[in-house]
Amino acid sequence: MNARHLGIGMTSQRTRSRLIGRLLQGGVTNKRLLDVMETTPRHIFVDEALASRAYEDTALPIGHGQTISQPYIVARMTEVLLENGPLDHVLEIGTGSGYQTAILSQLVPRVYTVERIEPLLSQARKRFQELRFSNIRTKYTDGIWGWKEHGPYKGIIVTAAPAEIPQPLLEQLAIGGRMVIPVGRENQALAVIERTAKGYESRELEQVKFVPLVEGTA
Ligand code: SAH
Repeated sequence: MNARHLGIGMTSQRTRSRLIGRLLQGGVTNKRLLDVMETTPRHIFVDEALASRAYEDTALPIGHGQTISQPYIVARMTEVLLENGPLDHVLEIGTGSGYQTAILSQLVPRVYTVERIEPLLSQARKRFQELRFSNIRTKYTDGIWGWKEHGPYKGIIVTAAPAEIPQPLLEQLAIGGRMVIPVGRENQALAVIERTAKGYESRELEQVKFVPLVEGTA
């Protein structure tokens, strides 16, 4: 990491450690995940004008009407995704800033991520290169269709909320795999879908507020 990645003042290691304290208070317990979140420079994933707020536990605007997810939500979704043991590859729908992708890339051998807004995706790609995250594959596409070529996936994480779970994502989930996805329009709940040999099991975790999953590419 270079000096910009390490940060100073409001982006320093001390500020980041405070955020980890909040995640612990929120009930996040996965030690590896907490370590990764402590060392990942979230300020690189937002506009420079917002860098001083990057380690607050809030969502922040990233342009094009989209937001970088709140750190607590990133932690919670990642923790649930990894709860059943290690995964060899995961699919993320909604790259956005690339922050959630970067966290996953340090915990899972291969990450596939798709985004429907091209300028956001190309900016995220530059960040992955700059930070040398080389196990991430990206695609500019409508994530409602998933990314069939690399499936089925033991883990799927969706970071925008559909009214209903897209059928292709259910199909691309491996047996024994799980999907973490916010579902709903006005009232959204974070859902965990598990695929068994017999079908799908679903449970709700907590109320959340994500940007909507939008059909088509921009
Ligand atoms: N994980 C991101 C969250 C960004 S917000 C981060 O932490 O920065 C959700 C993202 O999902 C937005 O960038 C939005 O453009 C994208 N999105 C919405 N609908 C989509 C779709 N159908 N296919 C792919 N991406 C989609």
